[in-house]
Amino acid sequence: NNTLPIPHQTRFISVSNQKGGVGKTTSTVNLAAALAKQGMHVLVVDIDPQGNASTALGIDHRAEVDSIYDVLINDVSLAEVIQVCPDLENLVVAPATIHLAGAEIELVSLVAREQRLRRALEEYANHRASNGEARLDYIFIDCPPSLGLLTVNAFVAANEVLIPIQCEYYALEGLSQLLSNIKLIQKHLNEKLDVSTILLTMYDGRTNLASQVAAEVREHFPSEVLDAVIPRSVRISEAPSYQQTVITYDPNSTGALSYLEAASEIAKRGSEKDAATSK
Ligand code: ADP
Ligand code: MG
Repeated sequence: NNTLPIPHQTRFISVSNQKGGVGKTTSTVNLAAALAKQGMHVLVVDIDPQGNASTALGIDHRAEVDSIYDVLINDVSLAEVIQVCPDLENLVVAPATIHLAGAEIELVSLVAREQRLRRALEEYANHRASNGEARLDYIFIDCPPSLGLLTVNAFVAANEVLIPIQCEYYALEGLSQLLSNIKLIQKHLNEKLDVSTILLTMYDGRTNLASQVAAEVREHFPSEVLDAVIPRSVRISEAPSYQQTVITYDPNSTGALSYLEAASEIAKRGSEKDAATSK
């Protein structure tokens, strides 16, 4: 029986790395789809102005659509901007539009500027409960490639950080800055935040470099790095152009299988922690 364990509480996972192109968005949408496909109730919050997660999930994010921008800046409720993924009924998405590009600056002068996403998510959880909708099992926040106020909002809203690392030179470069920012957030804004998961992405098994980098990352983060590794795969990279995740686009491809494996590992590690804390 390979049904996934249901988390005791909603897991808020911020997918972050201030480097661009390391697989944040790809990992967000594919892990979310893998979990939703197996019956989990999942929300993806797109807070990258590029809106790539929205695109990959087949979600309308043209400029005129209400989006996470309106939630963060104009106090619109999350429930009003949520759209259901056309391929997976258990997967809902708060889209990002291009307006979000200005949010980083607009947030600066707002009250509780670091807490806006957290409050919106809390309100949305209550909204679902009072509507008799299922409790969310997972919330993934797809961060932009920076450590500005949008990412700070994600760190304040989340209790876990998932860091995708591309298996190439300089993979660990910049990671210390990310980790020290996370420490600052833990100290001042959210003591529950925990780097729970590191996912090795775009792994090319034909090169020594990839295996060296993977070994080095595992040595630094023995308990965070997932056993599952995401290979470099054409199927993964072409799925978004069909507004799909590789999970629905080509479910038997090695790329899809690797994300399904990573998702089940995330679920199982979470349930081990649940068991340890409820003792
Ligand atoms: P980020 O969100 O960190 O900027 P993306 O997830 O958008 O990174 O990935 C950057 C690029 O690499 C995208 O074009 C994506 O399609 C591609 N890509 C991501 N993961 C893989 C993979 N495992 N194999 C091949 N291409 C990938
Ligand atoms: Mg991205």
